[in-house]
Amino acid sequence: MINKSTSKKLFAEALEYIPGGVNSPVRAFKAVGGDPVFIASAKGAYIYDVDGNEYIELINSWGPMILGHGNKLVESALISAVKDSTSFGAPSEIEVKMARLISEMVPSIEKVRMVNSGTEATMSAIRLARGYTGREKIIKFEGCYHGHGDSFLIAAGSGAVTMGTPDSPGVTDGTARDTLTAKFNDLKSVEVLVNENKGQVAAIIVEPVAGNMGCIPPDDGFLEGLRNLCNEHQILLIFDEVMTGFRLSAGGAQQLYQVVPDLTTLGKIIGGGLPVGAYGGRKEIMDFVSPSGPVYQAGTLSGNPMAMHAGYAILSFLWKNPSIYNDLDAKTNSICTGIKENLKSHSLNFTINRVGSMFTLFFNENPVRNFEDAKKSDLKVFGEYFNFMLEEGIYLAPSQFESLFVSNAIVQKDIDRIIEANFEALKKVLS
Ligand SMILES: *Cc1c(COP(=O)(O)O)cnc(C)c1O
Repeated sequence: MINKSTSKKLFAEALEYIPGGVNSPVRAFKAVGGDPVFIASAKGAYIYDVDGNEYIELINSWGPMILGHGNKLVESALISAVKDSTSFGAPSEIEVKMARLISEMVPSIEKVRMVNSGTEATMSAIRLARGYTGREKIIKFEGCYHGHGDSFLIAAGSGAVTMGTPDSPGVTDGTARDTLTAKFNDLKSVEVLVNENKGQVAAIIVEPVAGNMGCIPPDDGFLEGLRNLCNEHQILLIFDEVMTGFRLSAGGAQQLYQVVPDLTTLGKIIGGGLPVGAYGGRKEIMDFVSPSGPVYQAGTLSGNPMAMHAGYAILSFLWKNPSIYNDLDAKTNSICTGIKENLKSHSLNFTINRVGSMFTLFFNENPVRNFEDAKKSDLKVFGEYFNFMLEEGIYLAPSQFESLFVSNAIVQKDIDRIIEANFEALKKVLS
């Protein structure tokens, strides 16, 4: 057994002062049993806890560390930026460069507004959609997570389902009534809602590749179907690319699947590890945002120079080095192929879903195409598997309902170690 005594001590103290001991629920390891490990540092593909244990990273800060930890470009951008002060609360040149770069990388984004988190991005995007269309309702999908804004905590995936609270207390009935939920990969369920609420739906918001109920790719035609439905009923299509943006390609999932949304929300990678989010889209919609339009949205630290310099460093690297995405795809494919072989040699038939550098091993023998399928996974076995992997030095997301994220810092020997650890962990889980 690895030594976790310092983590244990810190967690006990954290429980005194922080609800559940953590600043974001899934980190508490509640779904997998055991105490969380406290992290001291991370470098490249490795993360180190306060007891000196080393793990191979498959969370990567839930996405942002796409090039691995301690990236030199981000580091030097920050060191140089800090000398000019950490915040102005006034316009600066890097914000203009950042906005231009984002619209080059994601052409459906003609104008963009920077915020401080993915949550803020999605909250602002639906306010804008409501203001622009003059309609009040939104459609989201069961198991999709769009941050912790009130309107989205209805059948929310990710942490909410991990904690058993997909519908949060504290959200008023009025707010809940304006959020309609459809089934992912089921166009019919969306059509029914649209027809039952004719002329009232402002926006359909979707994770184009779901990552917050585990990784679930869109079926062929699903995203196109949403696009057509939106066109037919003058509904705005919002792609929540907080997770997929800059991860599945330089232009995100919309580039990969060639479906153009009206609005896009971004987060995670966009800040290079600093707290950043953004929402953007067609000019005439974005010009509805204050001060050019009537929909109010603001932020004291929005467009913060530190965050902008870090984000710009990582995005411009990704933009100039598109082969990264082939490398990430190949590396993640190797990991998943190895895991599939392990499953076969243990006579197991669990499902692996993967898109590019996102993947989830579901402890589920049937295909996982929506939230209902994902929930049928064996969570107890997942918990055991998670803890065995941690013992083997592999740091996985502590929930079945999360995607894993591969960074480009991973090399062949890490891939071999992950596959070997998976072989051993599956063997232990079975016995
Ligand atoms: C992480 C995530 C969010 C929320 O972003 P935060 O920065 O955690 O507020 C929203 N949508 C999706 C798809 C996400 O993965």
